[in-house]
Amino acid sequence: MTRDLRLLARTAADALLSVLLAPPCVACSDVLDQPTRGPVCASCWRSIRPLTPPLCDRCGDSLPTWRAISTALACCARCRRTAPAVDRARSVGAYDGALRAVIHALKYDGRRTLARPLAEMMRVRAADVLADVACVVPVPLHPSRRRHRGFNQASDLARHIGLPVSHALRRTRDTATQTGLSAARRHRNVGNAFAPTGAARQVAGLTVVLIDDVSTTGATLDACARALKDAGVKEVRAVTAARALRLGAGSSLR
Ligand SMILES: [Zn+2]
Ligand SMILES: [Zn+2]
Repeated sequence: MTRDLRLLARTAADALLSVLLAPPCVACSDVLDQPTRGPVCASCWRSIRPLTPPLCDRCGDSLPTWRAISTALACCARCRRTAPAVDRARSVGAYDGALRAVIHALKYDGRRTLARPLAEMMRVRAADVLADVACVVPVPLHPSRRRHRGFNQASDLARHIGLPVSHALRRTRDTATQTGLSAARRHRNVGNAFAPTGAARQVAGLTVVLIDDVSTTGATLDACARALKDAGVKEVRAVTAARALRLGAGSSLR
């Protein structure tokens, strides 16, 4: 009965808000039918498709189908050339469409309530990578950037994954934005930009999962993973809300 009443009240509130304020979905700009359920409409959430398997067992990129069939351990050409410091990585989906809009709203418009449903998707779609780990480690922002933004979106996501959170890393350099840099320059740009904090001692010898909003070339995650492994962490995995798709299997142009 109470549940029915709550539902009724919510339906009424939704109807009222949607008529009076007509708040638009942050992803598609249509008026929200159920504004009390957050700033993204149901059809935009539904449109976020997982990356098409088979996926590279290490970096999580989609693999051409023919490659995965014959090998037990599916690995993309890039990961076979140079093994990344991140042992296994997964993302909810490609960094485009509604997923991109949701991440932008969280990060740049301060819609922090979006961290919970995004983290819920990360938890479900990366369940195998999150299994049997000690904790999650959010990719840190430089203190000056964090002050400017007021929050770290990676910490917000990490908090809602449902595992202990360890702030085992800090950013020692405020690296210029990575946008527009080539893969090689991104790696140079963030190399040595991270250092372990005192909390890293508690995760030495364990398996941890880095959490971030977007992975583009993997340069940031790789630098974080190297810093953690230097501090004695046994295995470093990574789960991001989105990943920018590369131009083709093995391409390192982005
Ligand atoms: Zn929408
Ligand atoms: Zn790979």
